[in-house]
Amino acid sequence: MLVHICCSVDSHYFLERIQEEYPDETLVGYFYDPNIHPYAEYQLRYFDVSYSCQKLGIELLEGPYNLEAWLKKVKGLEHLPEKGDRCTVCYDDRLENTVLKAIELGHDKFTSTLLISPKKSQDKLAIIGANLEKLHGVEFIFKDYRAGQGQMIQGQKVKEHSLYRQNYCGCLFGLEPQREYQDKIMDEMFNPISNQILPESIESRLELYHKRDDLEKKNIPYKIIKQKFLNYRLLTAMVKIKKEVIPSYFLCYSYLGKKKTSGRIEYERDDIAYLNKDEIKLISIDIFNDIAGTNYRNVKSMMYSPPTFQAELNLRQKITKNPYGLSPIIIVDKLSEEKYEIHMDAKIYDDVKEDII
Ligand code: SF4
Repeated sequence: MLVHICCSVDSHYFLERIQEEYPDETLVGYFYDPNIHPYAEYQLRYFDVSYSCQKLGIELLEGPYNLEAWLKKVKGLEHLPEKGDRCTVCYDDRLENTVLKAIELGHDKFTSTLLISPKKSQDKLAIIGANLEKLHGVEFIFKDYRAGQGQMIQGQKVKEHSLYRQNYCGCLFGLEPQREYQDKIMDEMFNPISNQILPESIESRLELYHKRDDLEKKNIPYKIIKQKFLNYRLLTAMVKIKKEVIPSYFLCYSYLGKKKTSGRIEYERDDIAYLNKDEIKLISIDIFNDIAGTNYRNVKSMMYSPPTFQAELNLRQKITKNPYGLSPIIIVDKLSEEKYEIHMDAKIYDDVKEDII
């Protein structure tokens, strides 16, 4: 039987139940989900499904990441709510691809872990599955493992195996209204050009779940816990002198509270320059190198290969002697007597992150 898998939260318990009910079947998992955006999130979910399948002794295959074809299929339906017609097209695409894969591999049955997901319409999935069964002659296995205590047990399994519990369905179009409703920024959908790993980003979760795997392999006890914290994202930043943009690097937690300001250096102490406006501090790259123990040639090279977020945070504390500091700290190639024009948009927001202890 080929089992289409959407994520480990839905697949772990579903696969356990299928294994129990069909002990003579050879189950093969099939991760085909081009609806998951961005690609890093797709990788994270695939990674976690691999971990779960390994625990269950089930072979896992990865389908193609047909993002463009998927986007074309849902074109015109982007604005519709979850469980609407966009989702029907999305189920259709994933089940159709699965049945074709089942035929290619010679399976006579197929099913999908979407059936256990509380946010999916089982009725629609049943109709799509039955139609595909009629069309291709491969039996669609419909199972309602949500019923009774199903969802509660599913939740227990997730905790027991420390599985990755995502907090959105998958696509950009479902996530956008969800984050709008929660009044949260959609930080899943952007990433710095530097590839610096930001707190509670998808990339940071990927690191955490790799660590979980290492600890499991070494048989070291661990627990994944959640922590509340103040998160930070720099959305745009720019420094101009005489209307010319100059290379600049804004240390994390730099915050202006408005989009633009301007000013001149008022005084310098310990090679740190203080602007006469908005508590802004400027540091030349040479001084930064001395403080941080780095050897960047210039600011541009720092932009493409920055310190880690934590290292930046430590440096901020060293420079300002203030663990809660939000003053903008800007690194430039050379300090200037001219007037600085500073543009920035940054967000500071309460968030929850996972940690491993
Ligand atoms: S909300 Fe979920 S099911 Fe609906 S289209 Fe997006 S990824 Fe597919």
